Amino acid sequence: MALLRPLTPTITLIDLQFQGRVETIASYLIYDGETAALIETGPASTIDTLLEGIRAAGAPLEALRQIFVTHIHLDHASGASVLARQLPWTRIYVHPVGAPHLADPSKLLASAARLYGDELESLWGTIVPIPAERIVSVNDGDEIPIPSSTLRVLETPGHARHHHAYFDLNSRLLFTGDIGGVRMPGVPYVRPPTAPPELDIEAWRASIARLRALDASGLCLTHFGLFRGNLEWHWNDLEQRLVAWGEAVRAQLEQGADEATIVQKLKAQAEQELAHLEVDPRQYDVAISYESLVAGYIRYWSKTRASTS
Ligand SMILES: [Zn+2]
Repeated sequence: MALLRPLTPTITLIDLQFQGRVETIASYLIYDGETAALIETGPASTIDTLLEGIRAAGAPLEALRQIFVTHIHLDHASGASVLARQLPWTRIYVHPVGAPHLADPSKLLASAARLYGDELESLWGTIVPIPAERIVSVNDGDEIPIPSSTLRVLETPGHARHHHAYFDLNSRLLFTGDIGGVRMPGVPYVRPPTAPPELDIEAWRASIARLRALDASGLCLTHFGLFRGNLEWHWNDLEQRLVAWGEAVRAQLEQGADEATIVQKLKAQAEQELAHLEVDPRQYDVAISYESLVAGYIRYWSKTRASTS
């Protein structure tokens, strides 16, 4: 059954119910009664839920013209490949660095296979190339007409080098992808998804500064949902944890701890941080695992050391 949350008269959140769990991956539908756009597709494995959600929101599939992805990680964009094939009238909007990987996902799949092994397909689904003529590369500052509004593209590296956030100039909602962190509805806790291989703490902080300055009316996180109210608090919580966890991992590395030990320590620390909050901590782990968090930091610190020594 489709789980929808109408956010504005034209914007609807579709809960993709990844791995049978609610509130892990969101897709956002913009539909004005004539044409429709999507921001984030989620993975290929939840495409049926997405299509059901679009229809349940009242939008015929023929109305869907534009599909925007924030970056090409599989939990955000692998669904775009299936949509492009099933709905040949759509165009996929992506960062120019991400575009070639959507047209030829072989490198993306090879690195994902190293990470997920046999589980790759059951987790993320079957990923197919998108014909290059269907892909639209968009750049920082571009303003793209969407149904009843305009979407501004914001280059926001840090989580990945090729990451965009999208700002809806009408509703002033900001679609953050992963640069806005992972936060469960109603929970005052933001986790930085510090996945390898492109984590860059300083770039991430610069992106946060840029997004803070926008005066958004709310944040639409892919993991998970719309947050209004004190956005300053949200950015502060994200930034301080991004830095604090990074320092904790660095201190462990300097003491010679191995990766498995660091994972255990970070998990213990995070579980303590979450202990007094009313949330199942696994909701955060589905969006990003401790192994992935730590691997991202370790890779970042090894690159930083290599460039300063
Ligand atoms: Zn990501």
